[in-house]
Amino acid sequence: MTVTRFAPSPNGPLHLGHAFSAIVAHDLAREARGRFLLRIEDIDGPRSRPELADEFRRDLEWLGLEWEEVPAQSTRLTTYDAAARNLLDRGLLYPCTCTRADIEALKPRLGSQGAIYPGTCKGSVVDPGKPAALRLDIDRAMAESGHLFWEDALAGQQVADPRGGGDVVIVRKDAPASYHLAATLDDAADGVTLVTRGADLFDATHIHRLLQELLGLPVPLWYHHGLLTDESGQKLAKRRGSPSLADRRRSGENGQALADALRSGEFPAGITLANS
Ligand code: GLU
Ligand code: ZN
Repeated sequence: MTVTRFAPSPNGPLHLGHAFSAIVAHDLAREARGRFLLRIEDIDGPRSRPELADEFRRDLEWLGLEWEEVPAQSTRLTTYDAAARNLLDRGLLYPCTCTRADIEALKPRLGSQGAIYPGTCKGSVVDPGKPAALRLDIDRAMAESGHLFWEDALAGQQVADPRGGGDVVIVRKDAPASYHLAATLDDAADGVTLVTRGADLFDATHIHRLLQELLGLPVPLWYHHGLLTDESGQKLAKRRGSPSLADRRRSGENGQALADALRSGEFPAGITLANS
């Protein structure tokens, strides 16, 4: 059975790009007579505002979507912890005490998911008094996992190459997991068979595929949809003035009509679908 999900982080209101993403996931499940799940990804440290989750549910309802909600990430911390411990015990993670400023000072290369960590702490003894994140030793992990592939429903078969992101964080200093670890474990636990999300997370999938292999998790299919962009060609974001779904809902706009317009590719003025 096809199982898709929408997995928003409650660190800001949802906007049109989220609506599009939720509709794509919802409709893919409905077309296949499958299940569409909602998962609240609320472990983003102090940026997480749990009260927004209720607004999200109202937004989805307003768009005319129906879903099954699975437990929020904050209720799954022991699972993340156990997986991280497993990887750590196998020598696949190492502690990193670098701050963002430390890393910036080294003028790191930029990957699609942000600065690529230059590996400063790898192989060195870190100060136990300093807060440490745990990073994945990509070279070692890839040597252990061998060649991996994954399949995107739109872009076809991909060779998993997570090296582009460097030694990514698996356990954050301020959270019991990183997005990569939590989302990968949750998609497996929730029985997701078609991971639907924006093309901005395409490169993250290389890392997720590697984590699945290391942790013995099932391998789903992915569907990275194009992103809605504004006049300047940038991804929609509240901070660039794109109105939130909650604003639209409160102003009396018809949510189902908006959802149908998004489905048929009729986007509000200035907004286009960038196919990646
Ligand atoms: N929580 C993530 C976000 O809001 C989505 C992760 C995903 O779909 O894999 O960007
Ligand atoms: Zn470091």
